[in-house]
Amino acid sequence: MKKEYLPRELLLSVDLEPGDQTNINHTDCPAGTDIKERLYIKRPEDNVNVVIGYCHNCQLSGITRLAPRRYKSPLKAEASEEEDEVVRFPSDAVFEPRLWPNHAYYWPCCYSVTPDMMRALGLAYVPSQDRILIPFGEPRIRYGAGIKSTNGYQLRRLVDNPNQPKYLTVRPKDKPIVPNILDSSERKESLVPIVLVEDALSAIRVYSAGYIGVSLSGTHMRKEDMFQLSKTYPYHSIVVWLDNDNKEVREHAAKIQDFLRLVHKKKVVRIRSNSDPKRYDQITIQKLVAGALRRNR
Ligand SMILES: [Zn+2]
Repeated sequence: MKKEYLPRELLLSVDLEPGDQTNINHTDCPAGTDIKERLYIKRPEDNVNVVIGYCHNCQLSGITRLAPRRYKSPLKAEASEEEDEVVRFPSDAVFEPRLWPNHAYYWPCCYSVTPDMMRALGLAYVPSQDRILIPFGEPRIRYGAGIKSTNGYQLRRLVDNPNQPKYLTVRPKDKPIVPNILDSSERKESLVPIVLVEDALSAIRVYSAGYIGVSLSGTHMRKEDMFQLSKTYPYHSIVVWLDNDNKEVREHAAKIQDFLRLVHKKKVVRIRSNSDPKRYDQITIQKLVAGALRRNR
């Protein structure tokens, strides 16, 4: 087995849980273009501080110890939903990325999110929870510690702890989870495609690859949200890109695509990769999105 590093692919997979494995295309594989997702990446259960990779095409292997996984005691507050009609951003939320501790600052950076993007997306670090805050809903809302949050937000775990949920969701009582739209006014005007994904991290990834990212926080999308999306972005193409690893998710993706096609004037296409967008680098994301839009189905 040849020893070499696969730093880019491994970096994109540092959030794998102990024992989890994924396989993706090996970008620029020296043994020829890999389209069969032959690069296997995992975080071994018996060695949780590393992520290792092995390509079955070129036999390169690699290991990374970056983003060390730290174990902490479980959170006191396990509640994932607020009872109030109005929720506020946590009073200790820090919205300026330069003020975050290194391990928090590192997290979005390794997904190619620049500090400017972090500000535009309204990301914050919440010291009392040691989590990253990702606001829900429309872009260009007002962010700040303690101020009212229209649609709520998610708190993404930074430390690896099986006793803590990966995401905590905080939203106003009786208010459904709305798709989280990561957008900028320039992108809206220049009609860049919209990419619908399952989770906040994947939305951040497609945003950093140049698209409007929409996270569904799951694999469902309500009809009213599809109408709303089509009304807000009538001239944008839409790419549905869920994690296609099981039949149920594939069916949900097909349903979303079918319904959007009925209500939306522009192209609505699907990407059927085996992994989430968060596992791919920017160039691969751009290739897959462009390819799907060219195929037009
Ligand atoms: Zn390879």
